[in-house]
Amino acid sequence: MKLVLASNNAKKLVELQALFAPLGIELVNQGSLGIPEAEEPFETFAENALAKARHAAKLSGLPALADDSGLSVDALGGAPGVRSARYALDAGGEKSDAANNERLLREMAAIDDRRARFVCALVAVRSADDPEPLIAMGRWAGEILTAPSGEGGFGYDPLMNIPALGQTVASLGAEVKNRHSHRALAAAQLIVQFREVWRLG
Ligand code: IMP
Repeated sequence: MKLVLASNNAKKLVELQALFAPLGIELVNQGSLGIPEAEEPFETFAENALAKARHAAKLSGLPALADDSGLSVDALGGAPGVRSARYALDAGGEKSDAANNERLLREMAAIDDRRARFVCALVAVRSADDPEPLIAMGRWAGEILTAPSGEGGFGYDPLMNIPALGQTVASLGAEVKNRHSHRALAAAQLIVQFREVWRLG
């Protein structure tokens, strides 16, 4: 089955394609079909992923898959949340991982409770008006350090320490990250739903 991926991120396509290939799924990036990015106006990862999936299905006429992810810090009421990529930009800074990490450290300077989660929503729809979207959530718990550590990964990885693994996400190899991550957990749940509800695989 061919599915449009509501993203232009080539790395995501490769990662998700490998995970879903055993179900007979072939992913196509929406950009290759001339589909522009959708608005992400909502306050939750699931709603934004659903909006992106419906948009891609509507413009392609194909089933669609979308993801939305970010960092949720308990003591900040879930921020940066769906604004994770634009966290520094929202405060008048630039749109970069380094600026986002600096803002996070500033906001948490006086906070002792450092608990946080990476969150990923994966949503699949059979058509633009599918009344029964498949919705899978993955969560990866850790704690925000007071200074970055590690060279790998992207985004908030250098600040996110995983106590169970004894290092930051930026210090884990890509292979280890891809086994434990919020995206891997959401994908595993979605595979169960693809099998049960869409009868794939
Ligand atoms: P997107 O859903 O891939 O666009 O990610 C949104 C934003 O959330 C990114 O720009 C990062 O700031 C943050 N984020 C999402 N996933 C990760 C991750 O695995 N590590 C670090 N930051 C992440």
